[in-house]
Amino acid sequence: MGIDVSGISKRFGDFTALDDVSVSLPTGRLTALLGPSGGGKSTLLRIIAGLESADEGTVRIEGEDATHLPARRRNVGFVFQHYAVFRHMTVAQNVAFGLDVRRRRALPWSTASRADKARIAARVDELLRLVHLEPFAHRLPAQLSGGQRQRMALARALAIEPAVLLLDEPFGALDAQVRKELREWLRRLHDEVPVTTVFVTHDQEEALEVADEVVVINHGRIEQIGSPEQLYDRPANDFVMGFLGDAT
Ligand code: ADP
Ligand code: MG
Repeated sequence: MGIDVSGISKRFGDFTALDDVSVSLPTGRLTALLGPSGGGKSTLLRIIAGLESADEGTVRIEGEDATHLPARRRNVGFVFQHYAVFRHMTVAQNVAFGLDVRRRRALPWSTASRADKARIAARVDELLRLVHLEPFAHRLPAQLSGGQRQRMALARALAIEPAVLLLDEPFGALDAQVRKELREWLRRLHDEVPVTTVFVTHDQEEALEVADEVVVINHGRIEQIGSPEQLYDRPANDFVMGFLGDAT
């Protein structure tokens, strides 16, 4: 259960971005996908999400073969580095967008019934509380800080109660101090809402601090899988060693 990736290969022309990647991520775990730029992290995340199809291999999500399911049927929530924000909608409307709590599928706000709107409003309140943005419900995204905007993005990703939460360098555009706060914050949020999460980062410190387990990926292959402690004790390669060198 959780996410099972088996024998995934992906080529772009002659270039092999992923080469026979297999990994199991148990339900409820917060996994960091760590590796240098160009290693294949985003490609693997996009294949899990259904935003890209693999040339070979299978993806199972909570026991279901998702290999040929489109993204909207995979029950996944995403957050990207540059999140698509609706600038002219309030924070609450951004979080509510596309959410139909009852049927848990996309429904434009303008055509929602009064009862649907009440349910959606209650769910949005709950989500904004979860990410500590209740006071900002009626503000516009432009009035939020970068960190607050990514928290809004997280609330929106969690709105559908996804089986899987996928984060691609979600804090990459933020400055170091805010990034550090958001890491701790993500860790706490995950303890509260332990949804199976895959967190892509090229920042070793971030991966080791946030994740239950770290999957090191480089040149389209998995180089190491282990807990932060295991990686720290027995780094498999120079990439992980490099971090330890910096840290000491
Ligand atoms: P990462 O997220 O680890 O930085 P990516 O998964 O984005 O790496 O990319 C892995 C490799 O695949 C890179 O060399 C990248 O240039 C290449 N790549 C990714 N997407 C495409 C694409 N759509 N077309 C061609 N090459 C791609
Ligand atoms: Mg990437």
